[in-house]
Amino acid sequence: METIYSADWLLPIEGAPIQNGAIAFENGRITRLGTSAELGAGRRFPGAAIMPGLVNAHVHLEYSGYTGFGDGLDFGGWIALHLQRKLNLTFEDVVALARLGAAECLASGITTVVDASYNAASPRACSELGLKAIVGLEVFGADPEAALAHFEALKEIAAPALSEQVRLGISPHAPYTVSPEVYAAVRELGVPVVTHLAESAAERAWLTRGEGPLGAMGDELLPPLGETGIRALARAHAAGKEMIAAHCVDLDPEEIELLASLDVAVAHCPRSNGFLGCGIAPLADLLRAGVRVGIGTDSPASAPSFDMFEELRSVVAFSRAREHSSQALAAARALELATLGSAGALGIADQIGSLLPGKRADIAIVALDETSLLPWEDAQAAVVLGGSPERVVLTVVDGETKYEKGEFEWDVLRSASATARGRMLAGGSKARAAGP
Ligand SMILES: [Zn+2]
Repeated sequence: METIYSADWLLPIEGAPIQNGAIAFENGRITRLGTSAELGAGRRFPGAAIMPGLVNAHVHLEYSGYTGFGDGLDFGGWIALHLQRKLNLTFEDVVALARLGAAECLASGITTVVDASYNAASPRACSELGLKAIVGLEVFGADPEAALAHFEALKEIAAPALSEQVRLGISPHAPYTVSPEVYAAVRELGVPVVTHLAESAAERAWLTRGEGPLGAMGDELLPPLGETGIRALARAHAAGKEMIAAHCVDLDPEEIELLASLDVAVAHCPRSNGFLGCGIAPLADLLRAGVRVGIGTDSPASAPSFDMFEELRSVVAFSRAREHSSQALAAARALELATLGSAGALGIADQIGSLLPGKRADIAIVALDETSLLPWEDAQAAVVLGGSPERVVLTVVDGETKYEKGEFEWDVLRSASATARGRMLAGGSKARAAGP
C-alpha cells in the first residue's frame, strides 16, 4: 500500500522545490511526487520540509564516544592518542559505540553512510538500526598479503550483518600507514575503497621528506615515499573511481587534476579539518576540475558530532571564507552535495540522493516550526541554516521509518557508550579488540 507524506515544502534536489508538496512511496521506492492537492495530504508535517535522506560520505561510527579526545593536540599527537586509547576497548564496547553512532546519524536525517571500520563492529550496528552503509574494513601496513588476510578476518566478523543495505568495502587507512602495493592489491577486490588522502601538511611533510609531527605515531607509520600519496597512488595505478578519499585538504593544482583524471571521489569534511587545524579543502577548485565531491562528518574523534546540518553550515562558511566571496557556494548547492553529490561519490546516484519516482524511499523530514526561520523565504537555505538533529522529526530508509523524534531509546544507547568511553579514559588492559 502506498504511503503519502506531505509538508510545507518538498525538496527533491533534482528539480525545483514544491510548495505544499507531497511524496508517495511503496515497497521501498518512491512512486509519485507532487502537491498535496494532487496526491492527497496523507500524513501532514506542518512547518516542515521533506527532503532526501542525507548521505554521509565519510564517517567512523565506532568512534562515536571519542568526543573531545586530544582536542588541541597537533595531528601527530592526536592520532597517536587515538590509536593508544582504542586498544582499551572490548569488541562489545566497540559495537555499543557504533550503535550510538548509527543512531545519531539517523537522528540527523542521514540514511546512508560510508563508514571506515577498524573492528568490523559497525556493520552489526548499521544492520540492527537500519542505517544503510558501505563499510570499508580498515587495513594497514606495507605487505599486501598480510593486509588482505586481515581484511578476510574482519570480513568474517562482519559477514552476518552484511546485506543489500549494509555493503562491504575496504579501507586502506592512508598513504603513511598503507603502502602503494597494498592500495594496488585492494583494488582487485572490486569493492568500494575508502581512504584518507592529503589530510594535512603533516602528511605531506612525512611522505615527501620524512619530517614533521607524524613521526610521533610509532609502529603504524611507514617509511616516507619521496612524493605525496596521490602521486604515489597514481604512479602505482592504485586509485580510481572505486575510491572515496576523505579530506583532500592539502592539494596542489597538479594533484587536483590527478584526482579528476583518476575519477577518485572526495569526501569533504570541513569541521574535522578545521578542528584538527588541517586547513580548508579547495572545494571550489575540486568542483571546477570535475571531481565527484560528497560531504562527510568524519567522527567525534575530530569533529564533535555526526550532525550533518552543522557540517553543511561549515561547508558553506568555510568555502565562502576560503574564496573571500559570499557567492562561492549557495546553501542549496551544499545541500545538493550532501545528498546527490555524496550519492555520486559512492557511484549510486541512480538509486539515492534525490527524490524521484523509482529511486529508493530514503527520506528525512525537518521541522522548522518553533524557530525564527518561518515564514519560509528559501526552503533549501532554511533547512541548511536552521536544520539540526533536534529538528529532524522522521528518517525513513527504503520506505521504513528508522527514526522518529521522541521514539528512541537514547538512554540505553548512551549508557553503553559511556561505559566504553570510561574504559578508554581509565586505560588498563592493552589487549586489542580484534573480534567478538
Ligand atoms: Zn576518517
